[in-house]
Amino acid sequence: MSKRKIKNSRAIVTGSSSGIGRAVALELARCGASVVIVARREDRLRQLADEITAVGGRVEIVAGDITNAEVRDRAIDIATSRFGGLDILINNAGIGASGLFEHADPDRLRRIFEVNFFALVEMTRAALPALKQGVDPIVVNVSSILGHRGVPHNSEYSASKFAVQGFSESIRAEFARDGIDVLVVSPGTTETEFFDSVIECTGKPSWPEHAAVSSDEVARRTVRAIRLGRHEIIPYRWGRLLCRLNRISPGLVDRLMARYV
Ligand code: NDP
Repeated sequence: MSKRKIKNSRAIVTGSSSGIGRAVALELARCGASVVIVARREDRLRQLADEITAVGGRVEIVAGDITNAEVRDRAIDIATSRFGGLDILINNAGIGASGLFEHADPDRLRRIFEVNFFALVEMTRAALPALKQGVDPIVVNVSSILGHRGVPHNSEYSASKFAVQGFSESIRAEFARDGIDVLVVSPGTTETEFFDSVIECTGKPSWPEHAAVSSDEVARRTVRAIRLGRHEIIPYRWGRLLCRLNRISPGLVDRLMARYV
């Protein structure tokens, strides 16, 4: 049974110039939400805004870097001033890098944490007063399967997503008394620009490739989970399998992972 209505809700989607964020913003708009879209590439946001307007949705653009407090505050101000409030915060913006830990410098770790973790946490902090006034409010944090199981060549990214997982579980308990839900979406390999925009690639794991899912599919499942008030989804079959295997036999998964370095 549906817990939450998307129609007439007010949402912010970070990292909505491409991939999963773009698809989620469009899906929310199709379902009747008003959406503030946030990312650095303004031309891409304008294209998306045209598509949202074409399906009859209301949209506002905030072009800027999510690690900047002014950009985060602007997104929240626009949601409250133009749409009258905020009900759905989607913390989706994310970056990655690939390569062994011993070949990476400390800057790579810090850059990844700035976007994937600190910006997500500070966006949540800044949005909390507005969310408390919202209708059936929810925070959606886009994590990864690598937030459930670390894999070689992705130590910094994986650590940032484990941090998102821990943060989300903690605030879920804290926010419950204010009626704010917290959903963690943990995608697996998804067809987006993510792998082309990694900030550094000094090596890759050699495991067999599994078919990627589309960002539209992840968006549909995410919006469905928002409606249903779910706490966790893993919209990727191989990801669910890996998490299950890791719970049953973490030592076996450790040995398997070591083979792919
Ligand atoms: P994309 O690269 O297509 O999208 C990433 C989005 O984040 C873009 O809109 C980008 O916009 C935005 N972004 C990145 N850095 C910043 C920044 N500093 N400030 C504002 N926006 C920023 O990748 P995905 O759609 O795949 O990634 C979305 C989320 O899904 C990420 O959190 C990622 O970790 C997660 N994920 C993706 C997987 C996949 O296989 N694709 C698997 C598991 C998780 P712009 O460059 O215009 O700023």
